[in-house]
Amino acid sequence: MPKKLSKTKYIFILGSIMSGLGKGILSSSIGKILQSCDFSICPIKFDGYLNVDCGTMNPLRHGEVFVLEDGTECDMDLGTYERFLNISLNSQNSITGGKLFKKIIEKERAGGYLGKDVQFVPHLTNEIKSWIKKAAEDFSADFCLVEVGGTVGDLENGYFIEAARQLAQEQKGDVLFIQLTYIPFLSSGEAKTKPTQHSNRLITSLGVHPEIIICRTEEKLNKEAKEKISLYCNVEPDCIFEDPKLEYLYELPLVLEKQGFSSILLKKFNLEPVQPKLDNWKKILDRLANPTQTVDVAITGKYTAVVDAYASIKEALVHASAKLGIKTKVDFVDTEGLENNKDPNQLLQKYNGIIVPGGFGSRGVEGKIKSIEWARINSIPFLGLCFGMQLMVIEYARNVAGLKNANSTEVDPNTPHPVVDLLPSQKKITQKGGTMRLGSWECILKKGTKAALAYSKERVFERHRHRYEVNNAYTEILEKAGLIFSGTSADGTIMEMAEWPTGWGVATQAHAEFTSRLEQPSALFVAFLEECLKNKKAKS
Ligand code: GLN
Repeated sequence: MPKKLSKTKYIFILGSIMSGLGKGILSSSIGKILQSCDFSICPIKFDGYLNVDCGTMNPLRHGEVFVLEDGTECDMDLGTYERFLNISLNSQNSITGGKLFKKIIEKERAGGYLGKDVQFVPHLTNEIKSWIKKAAEDFSADFCLVEVGGTVGDLENGYFIEAARQLAQEQKGDVLFIQLTYIPFLSSGEAKTKPTQHSNRLITSLGVHPEIIICRTEEKLNKEAKEKISLYCNVEPDCIFEDPKLEYLYELPLVLEKQGFSSILLKKFNLEPVQPKLDNWKKILDRLANPTQTVDVAITGKYTAVVDAYASIKEALVHASAKLGIKTKVDFVDTEGLENNKDPNQLLQKYNGIIVPGGFGSRGVEGKIKSIEWARINSIPFLGLCFGMQLMVIEYARNVAGLKNANSTEVDPNTPHPVVDLLPSQKKITQKGGTMRLGSWECILKKGTKAALAYSKERVFERHRHRYEVNNAYTEILEKAGLIFSGTSADGTIMEMAEWPTGWGVATQAHAEFTSRLEQPSALFVAFLEECLKNKKAKS
């Protein structure tokens, strides 16, 4: 989208009171509204932690590690931005404390600050401001949306908010702050605004004044509560918006716009109101709200508290469901029991399709393999993603090709049949951060395969994050046993996709879920759900 405004406008979204209020969804929704007013957007997420990126974090604790086209391993919010805005982001869109300090220290060692003592202000704050401005420029952005991770008052983001304050000072009229807050309700039904007042005071003590307040609420906010927030937080009542509980997060742009969000926001920048074009977005949501059919899908593995660890898969299923006008009920099914010879039918028979997602290490592997075997034998649609493809190959090697105890060397270094092994490029790597095979890679599909049919293309790009691959010493044996390698890397050396000769079992070494967007669902997920629908029909 071409840039319309002569100067980029900056919006900082600040969290208050507590985390987990959906700042990423809010930032994405504001971006979507502005995008549908024909403005170009550059979203940025700041995370205060000292990790350079998310790659070494535990997804069960921190949420999914999202991967961008250029291989950046980042916070799952970047995935939300891409899913809403239908644009591809890069490392510039993800600032972390680790990246900033690394840059400053490297510059200092190189003599970049000779003679000076390097300080948070101005050196670090200048670095932040120039990063944000450069990203906005590279994206030709009318609006640069900067989500500040954590909550105001955290030690980790204080210097970042200081940089934002300086930017607002230097570019008066071009910078706006939005506070996201939470309004608790007493059992009497009374809304309590005091936490919002206190946290607003904390924000203003840092020298910034939020001009718009977004209230996460479980109930409807009445006029009185809004007036109170307005009075104590120095914000006009029409600049206070509700962010209620929603079934689909994609509803938020519509919900905000119903409250007149874009005209208020644009007015703050002295811009004329524009009618956002959200009709197509609304149509997609209408299809989600009025499904014609329902399918049940199991994501199998060994789970504790996981929903956030597989956010992109869940969302990719929502996107594909919206396209097909169906509802997909997703269960995370703990297949650990299958390791003790429990009857898979008992656990899995209600499902119309099985997904085995990405993963690392040996935890829960045998249960996942059993669920793949069950799907293959019973002709249940199966979609394998990354580790899911490696386990599909292991299952086929053991149970069809007769390679007893076949495994991945990641799971069993002493396996007699290492059908999955380290990528040659990984063999000398000792550093853990940012060293997997990452980012977007081309895959050439074999004509006539289910994969080629699903994509309706012969060349596709998908994002990767792995160290292991199908061992080429075994591809011939596996092919002879019937397994089809339906996609390879452009140079033909890496098996990128595999499928069963009968039934619909398709797997990819990539994470097809990362490129799925509401307005452009992943072809592979759509094809998988179409097969689930067929399974449902055959069952009934
Ligand atoms: N553990 C496997 C590998 O490193 C799969 C990784 C994944 O599923 N992202 O190759």
